[in-house]
Amino acid sequence: MLSVAEALRIIQSHTPPLAVERIDLSDALGRVLAEEVVADSDLPPFDRAQMDGYAVRAADLTTVPARLRIVGESAAGRGWRGHLQTGEAVRIMTGAPVPAGADSVQQVEVTSELDGGALVEITEATTPGRSIVRRAEEVTAGSVVLRAGETINAATVASLAAFGYAQVAVRRRPRVAVLATGTELVAVGERPGADQIRDSNSYSLAAYAALAGAAVERLPLAGDDPASLKELIAAGAARADVLILSGGVSMGVYDFTKTALRELGAEIFFERVALRPGKPTVFARLPAPSPQTLVFGLPGNPVSVAVTFNLFARTALRAMQEASEPALLEERAVLGRAVKGASERRSYLPATLNSDDDGRLVAEPLKWGGSSDFVAFTRATALIIVPEDIRHLDAGARVNVVRLPG
Ligand code: AMP
Ligand code: MG
Repeated sequence: MLSVAEALRIIQSHTPPLAVERIDLSDALGRVLAEEVVADSDLPPFDRAQMDGYAVRAADLTTVPARLRIVGESAAGRGWRGHLQTGEAVRIMTGAPVPAGADSVQQVEVTSELDGGALVEITEATTPGRSIVRRAEEVTAGSVVLRAGETINAATVASLAAFGYAQVAVRRRPRVAVLATGTELVAVGERPGADQIRDSNSYSLAAYAALAGAAVERLPLAGDDPASLKELIAAGAARADVLILSGGVSMGVYDFTKTALRELGAEIFFERVALRPGKPTVFARLPAPSPQTLVFGLPGNPVSVAVTFNLFARTALRAMQEASEPALLEERAVLGRAVKGASERRSYLPATLNSDDDGRLVAEPLKWGGSSDFVAFTRATALIIVPEDIRHLDAGARVNVVRLPG
């Protein structure tokens, strides 16, 4: 059976990069940078006060209390242009330029003004450099602050703004269509009949795809019959770079997803992976005239959907955006409780992550009812990876984990 690693290699070799577009910075959250971000100025651009107080020469405060003559004021956006001399102080605010001649800022809490603001009495000594961030101490003009392939997040938008990127080059969002299949499914607004359940996969898939940077469309529900499946697959594929199907990929009599794909002329790259949960995962490509839409056929159990989407479809969507780390990053952790693996297959077990007293990451396997138990799964923040052919791991064993997006 195809290993997870081989499946990921196949996916990455069939995910062509999407075009680059320039967008407004205010629309950039979650997008993948397609250019280097270079500082157009030093940061800070001048020696900057870190406190409200007085700019002084530290040597003037070797004996305290000391009285200094106030010769001016430096406020944020309105610096004092003179040169500070011995025995002088300049009233200064956080974010303001430190005047020439001053080498320290003493905080306002240990000062009091006298003579109607002509003098300041300072009760504590200071040292040169105190409460000053020197010009270029944080960033030097011309240096690269962000690289192509990084995902723009709430922290990185600040850098883009600070260095003048009103517009930014990013990869186009992949267009994703989500198609939930299963005759038992009814829409969320309906009350299920005796043999029916509400469709939840199309919503979780749409949410995970949006987190991966995609523009998502949910298609109408498809029943388990090849004709309507083919129709909805073709309609969805015509509008999407990636079509994500749930259900109908197992060995049941009414599992028609692969039949429908084959009849539409799809090239099936794989249809089984040595994975638990998620063995019957399908990866395929529909032919033109649909613009070579990639297709993921995911097993319908809601937890299998979450695992296989985040392992495979997410990686494809991130690779198409040229993200520098398209797959979920693996981290080391310690098992909080013993777990079972599977022969031949690699297991991904839902877990929560905590740190122990030694600062080690501890992965606590979730108590749950299996891959249909999506309500228990809402508590999981990570997946524990149990390698192929490992039947049992004891508490305390070292494992790899991936964090679940969300
Ligand atoms: P299947 O992969 O079609 O054999 O489905 C496996 C299990 O997942 C069955 O119990 C289905 O009823 C359930 N299932 C399939 N599709 C969905 C969906 N869209 N939302 C919630 N459960 C689903
Ligand atoms: Mg089904």
